[in-house]
Amino acid sequence: MKKLINLCLLGLLVLACKQPGNPKSLVSVDAQVKVPSAEQNLNEKAQDLSERKAIQKAWFDAAELVVRQTHDAEAQAVLAHLAANVYVVKPTSAGSAEVLENATGKINPIALVIVTTKDLAASDDLRKRVLGGGQAAEYYPIPSVLMLYPQELSPTWKGLLFLHEGAHAKTFAERPYDFRDSFVNAEKEVQVHEFENRLLLSVGGEAYMDLLKAEAARIQELVLAQNAGPNKTVVIGMSAYNLLLDKVFGAAVSTHEQLLRQTHFFIQAEFVALEHLYAAGGQQKILEQKTYWFQAFRQQSQAPK
Ligand SMILES: [Zn+2]
Repeated sequence: MKKLINLCLLGLLVLACKQPGNPKSLVSVDAQVKVPSAEQNLNEKAQDLSERKAIQKAWFDAAELVVRQTHDAEAQAVLAHLAANVYVVKPTSAGSAEVLENATGKINPIALVIVTTKDLAASDDLRKRVLGGGQAAEYYPIPSVLMLYPQELSPTWKGLLFLHEGAHAKTFAERPYDFRDSFVNAEKEVQVHEFENRLLLSVGGEAYMDLLKAEAARIQELVLAQNAGPNKTVVIGMSAYNLLLDKVFGAAVSTHEQLLRQTHFFIQAEFVALEHLYAAGGQQKILEQKTYWFQAFRQQSQAPK
């Protein structure tokens, strides 16, 4: 999921990016004095890039694992879109970044901002932004930026999340939309969650389906109890982490992963509940209700506490 609140920051971030120049241009006019420092910079940059490429590989490996587990053609296409278009960027603060790879030749370039724990230690504002946001990955369409944060995640959930954000990138590249319109944005979130939900069902199998049915029944009961009028959008509170998800996906490796799992599980259960509640209205009605719900859910979770 992404937060509109950070769009401006991200806009600044990428506008502040510097495209990598020809390495030779780093050699100053005053060669005798500057050359060693330039070489040192190049070495540091190469080291920095190789560290981030290792992190990038872990995200791609995780997504590949999900593609292998699910044999999902759309997941395969999302992964291919990511592989063809990302270039590595290093954040230097919440509002600035350095491009480490050349994006030349990429049809739909996506700045892959890989944030490490070292980056967080080096920048207070970046740390506040990343840890305060509660996300492990985020995507922003203009400019196209995919942020990856250093929260601990198991490979399956890392892969699911990367494919989720990649699906946003692919959707926007294929058919740009007004992402500042909250309803349109919610429609796209519903679409991407439907894709992810299919993957979750495929990975989680019957055990996951059982948990979903129980959670959807709980939601449905509460909605019916609160729904005073027709078409009223009710947002039920999310429960604490359902430990039974550990039996389906293996133990969550961090409290962050627990929150991620519970949120995505809850969204899927809500969709199942809405499919039951609005079954008589047909597919279009159900889709509309999911979009209204997602919009309300996001507003609620962004509300100041
Ligand atoms: Zn999303």
